[in-house]
Amino acid sequence: MTPPIVAVIGGGQLARMMTPPATALGITLRVLVESDQASAACAAHETVVGLPTDPDAIERLLAAPRPDVVTWEHEHIPADVFEACEKAGVPARPGLEALRFAQDKIQMRARMDELGLPNPAWREVRSAADLEAFLADNGGTAVLKTARGGYDGKGVRIVSSAVEAKDWLDASANGGPRLLVEAKVPFTRELAAQVARRPSGEVRTWPVVESIQRDGVCSEVISPAPQLSAERAALAQEVAARIATELGVTGVLAVELFETADGLIINELAMRPHNSGHWTIEGSVTSQFEQHLRAVLDLPLGDTAPLAPVTVMANVLGGSRSHLEGSHAEAADAGAKVHLYGKGVRPGRKVGHVTVTGTDSEQTYARAVAAATIVRDGGAA
Ligand code: ADP
Repeated sequence: MTPPIVAVIGGGQLARMMTPPATALGITLRVLVESDQASAACAAHETVVGLPTDPDAIERLLAAPRPDVVTWEHEHIPADVFEACEKAGVPARPGLEALRFAQDKIQMRARMDELGLPNPAWREVRSAADLEAFLADNGGTAVLKTARGGYDGKGVRIVSSAVEAKDWLDASANGGPRLLVEAKVPFTRELAAQVARRPSGEVRTWPVVESIQRDGVCSEVISPAPQLSAERAALAQEVAARIATELGVTGVLAVELFETADGLIINELAMRPHNSGHWTIEGSVTSQFEQHLRAVLDLPLGDTAPLAPVTVMANVLGGSRSHLEGSHAEAADAGAKVHLYGKGVRPGRKVGHVTVTGTDSEQTYARAVAAATIVRDGGAA
């Protein structure tokens, strides 16, 4: 029997981190990378250089021996790719019917309302008047978002008047991204519930995590979310499993949630391995990367039980190249597991992460942050 081939669109760290479990499972990972310098380019078993918008690149990705399935590590997948997959007889997972809810926040909010799942107040914004009316009804301050194309807080802006949004409103009126506005949720913290679903319907959820953001970028993830009530944890897992099933998601789904004094509110969906799940590499019987591969190939899903009472993941954001090259070896904590993505360093860019397992949330958190600081800056934490 020839080994299964999984084609992945996108050559960042998420595709790179799919490689070790692919190797372990005897799967060939064929990755469409933006350049031969991309994070996944030196890790994947096979690479095709090109962009998802280039039909020729997609043809090379789908060429014989044909992949068993096509998946991705980001949501910016043009509809043409789905047509090309269909023509080639290669399933695309998750399919466009599911993925569009992760691509487009307006479609996502509308669908969550239909399903009766917890949304903030929101509306589509077609004009300055729409925005002013929403602000008037919602305390004068709200969160304006582009429906598509946002990541790491880009495409999100807190506004108190339509004047502050003039550039986005003008761009939107001239064929730019559609806009939506949401009530500003008074959240106490951000959580994420991760789940995997395979085409035959099996669903498995990981423990609910707390995700700590700085300047709109995830900086640390604590699993399980400290002091989360059993009821809320179960609710978050139910919401994630219900979304995966109702939307027909195949692969891994992360549901980002706000926790408030009154309960939980959905922030957004990611239909791929996600930063909130990096802890699973060392912290769970089955990592999100392995599970994603199993799910898209419709193989039995792995156990999602945690391997330690607490796991903390800390991102390495930016830093200086020289320190990144060598200092992980100097990390003062022998239990810290360092992951470097092989990416060029720019201030604030996610260039790696560190995971530490332990028994106490605060201590484990301090160890993970200290280790990530050493990787970023070099020397002692
Ligand atoms: P991105 O697509 O860039 O990840 P998100 O929709 O996750 O954008 O928003 C980025 C951050 O902005 C969130 O992590 C949260 O801190 C804040 N945010 C987003 N929506 C709201 C909201 N409705 N109320 C309050 N804060 C919000």
